[in-house]
Order: sequence, then structure tokens, then C-alpha cells
Amino acid sequence: MSSEAQSTKHSARQQNRVVFLMYHELEIPGRALCHSEAGYSRYVVKETQFRSQIHWLQEVGWHGLSAGDALAFALRNDCEPSSVAVTFDDGCESDLISAAPILKEAGCNATFYITVRFLGQRGHMKQTQLRELAALGFEIGCHSMTHAYLTDLDDRGLQREISEAKAELEEIIGKQVEHFSCPGGRCDARVIQVARHAGYRSVANSRVRQNGPATDSFDLGRIAILRGTELQAFQEICRAEGLWKIQAGNRLRGAAKQVLGNSLYDRGRAFLLR
Ligand SMILES: [Zn+2]
Repeated sequence: MSSEAQSTKHSARQQNRVVFLMYHELEIPGRALCHSEAGYSRYVVKETQFRSQIHWLQEVGWHGLSAGDALAFALRNDCEPSSVAVTFDDGCESDLISAAPILKEAGCNATFYITVRFLGQRGHMKQTQLRELAALGFEIGCHSMTHAYLTDLDDRGLQREISEAKAELEEIIGKQVEHFSCPGGRCDARVIQVARHAGYRSVANSRVRQNGPATDSFDLGRIAILRGTELQAFQEICRAEGLWKIQAGNRLRGAAKQVLGNSLYDRGRAFLLR
């Protein structure tokens, strides 16, 4: 095979894999965040930072996809141009008033995973705003009923957080909800089984890796875009370069969670980030 053919084959394989970006609340100037702890604000990207990231995607001609789009096209079709999936967790009000207009202007789609009981709480969308977001054409996914760590729950708890949350969201937006993301990235075989049974088509966690045609749609990796993620680091993440560095940091945190358990880990992290 000529080197040109080899490089074409290589780039086709690369194009066929998609990084799923994971965002949370965006910080809007003059507006208080939903929570003030350091462990929370680490995940809050400034609006200006988000705008530069989306502008860069637009400039280089990349597509911003919803989870459903990514599963339907990019993960299956060799001819798609470079793409990332853009996802948001929790259902903050900044989804509608900040992220949505920036994404629209750049012609990007996205999936907003909503925690049902957060609707109407301070800094989060109200039901009417969620309907507005859905009416703009963005995909609405589910991020559980109460944001409980699913791996800590019994069967009844999983039903409520995964299955009943789906039904409530569908009632609110009047559309099917087919994609789920796990609070805190906590996921196991029981979670996946309940999600399948409830009728979801995918489950996203926060495993640091790109997704491709061979990826199980109930084990979609996502990479958190953090307050400290500089534009160059963002570009590398989109290209799936240097993911091992993020993986190494997360492995350390994962080991700490394993040893300490969820609640002790959270208290320890809050202490360290004070
Ligand atoms: Zn969350």
C-alpha cells in the first residue's frame, strides 16, 4: 500500500471515532453559580471560554453532534467529516441562556442530560425552559431523578433514578428520551441492565476515551471539559491526543474512590479543595 493510501486509511479510521465532550454549568458574568464549592466550580467553564472552544470547532469545520447524531452517523459511517459530540449534564439554566445560543450560531447540535428533580431549583432550568431548549432542536437526555450515585442504590432506587426519571422527562417535553448519562460517572452492569430495560439507546459515563463503531453504546466514554482546560488542551481532546494523561489522573482518583467509598471520597475531596 502506498504511503498516501495508508495515510488516507489512517485518517478515515480517525474520522470514524468521536470524542464526546462533557460540560456542566457555564459561568455567565455577573451571575452566581448553582453551587460555590471548589469541587463544583472545577467543572464550570466560563462562557467566554466555551465560546472560543465552539468557535474553534466552527473554524476548523468540525461538526458538533448530539449523542443520538453521533451514534447514528459518525460512529457508523467512514465518510463523515471530523466531529465531536457535545454533551451537558445536570440541566443548569446556562444550558438555555448561554450554551444554546452559542451552539446555534455555530450550527452545532448537543445533548443536554437533565436531572429531573433539579428542574425549578436555583440556577437550574424550569420546566418551561426545558421545553424551550427541546423546541430549539437540541436533544434532551436523562441524568437521573435526583443525581444519586447509581452504584450505591438497590433495585427500587435504580428504577426511580433511571426508568421513572425517563417517563417524567418525556411527559414534560412531549418527546422520547433515549439517552442517559450517569451522575458522577458511576456506572455498573446493573445500571446498564435497568437502562436497557427502560428503553434507552445509550448510556454515557465519564471514562476517558473516544468512541467508535466497536464501542458499546451503553458504555460511551466522555471527557470532562474543565474550568482549567486551555484552548490548546481542548483542541487536543477533540483530536483525542494525549488522553492517557487525563486517564492517568482519573485512575488515581478512581483508586481513591474504590478505597474510600463514594461518600468518604466526596468529603475528602471537599476537604482537599477547600
Ligand atoms: Zn451531574
